[in-house]
Amino acid sequence: MKFKEIKELLSSPKNIVITTHKNPDGDAIGSSLALHHYLLLLGHHSIVITPNEYPDFLKWMPGEDDIIKYNTDTEIAQSKIKEADLIFTLDFNHLSRSGDMENDLAKTDTTFVMIDHHQQPDGYAKYVYSDTGMSSTCQMIYHFIEKLDDLDKITAEIATCIYVGIMTDTGSFKFRSTTNITHRVVADLIDRGADNTNIHESVYDTNTLSRLQLKGVALKNLNVLPEYKVAYITMSQKELDRHSFKKGDTEGFVNMGLSIEGVKFAVIFIENRKEGIIKISLRSKGDFSVNEFSRNHFDGGGHHNAAGGKSNLSLSDTVDKFISILPSYKKLLNQ
Ligand code: 5GP
Ligand code: MN
Repeated sequence: MKFKEIKELLSSPKNIVITTHKNPDGDAIGSSLALHHYLLLLGHHSIVITPNEYPDFLKWMPGEDDIIKYNTDTEIAQSKIKEADLIFTLDFNHLSRSGDMENDLAKTDTTFVMIDHHQQPDGYAKYVYSDTGMSSTCQMIYHFIEKLDDLDKITAEIATCIYVGIMTDTGSFKFRSTTNITHRVVADLIDRGADNTNIHESVYDTNTLSRLQLKGVALKNLNVLPEYKVAYITMSQKELDRHSFKKGDTEGFVNMGLSIEGVKFAVIFIENRKEGIIKISLRSKGDFSVNEFSRNHFDGGGHHNAAGGKSNLSLSDTVDKFISILPSYKKLLNQ
């Protein structure tokens, strides 16, 4: 990334759109809002547009109220995209990840800046800051501000937003992508006003009884295939409905499978009748690449040890397909 050119570009006020991937998570919302607050400080007109709704446990974040959701505020979103001098795309690297916004983004001839930590970035952006070794896009926003010589501009609001994404994308600082530098960044964020305990409570201690009971269903539906070191969970639309499912309620469930001793590869299949798909989350430990697995079989991708995908088959046919693929990975999974 040519940080000097970006600094020059940001030296006069611009209309800037910040956007992120469909079904935004803590890193997507955290990085978008952190950058938004920073750009406002620099004197820009900045607006965050998400493709669709995000979980309630993020609905306390500074600036969250002003986020425009493309699926419900389509016309406003479209005109903001048209007017933009600059579009930042955060926490994704292929326009297809932006859901129904894809066409509008592909149509504009404005300048794109990509900041992202997923594998295999696409070529739509003029400025690309891509680093698959990074814990989170939020950590990259910190380094982005650092490269522009503006760490002193990090307010408590910005520090809070960055903290959220690092925390959620690292499973609270435990995944392998968490480095000594990540910890140094986080320490600096606390120095600059991020209230770590409050942030953890706001994001994680927001269970409802029905959500905990849904977790019980997930545990009941957990299957282990020891010959492949695989664990998988299914969640039907009926089960979700029975527990008043809301976006974000199944977050982290897939990790329960991965926590079983000997399991190297864990998957959760979640039926989404409205979209007519099965949403798939994949996690692994060690050398097994769920990014490759999902790319090859389930129209998805992501990171080496954490990826997503989808299937147009029924829930049971999707599981059958998954199980039928496993023998060709038996050797790899048993290495
Ligand atoms: P999750 O399983 O939590 O939805 O996603 C895990 C990781 O994979 C995240 O970094 C997410 O951005 C990415 N991801 C999720 N779904 C998809 C997908 O359908 N395609 C691609 N390329 N990446 C995905
Ligand atoms: Mn991320």
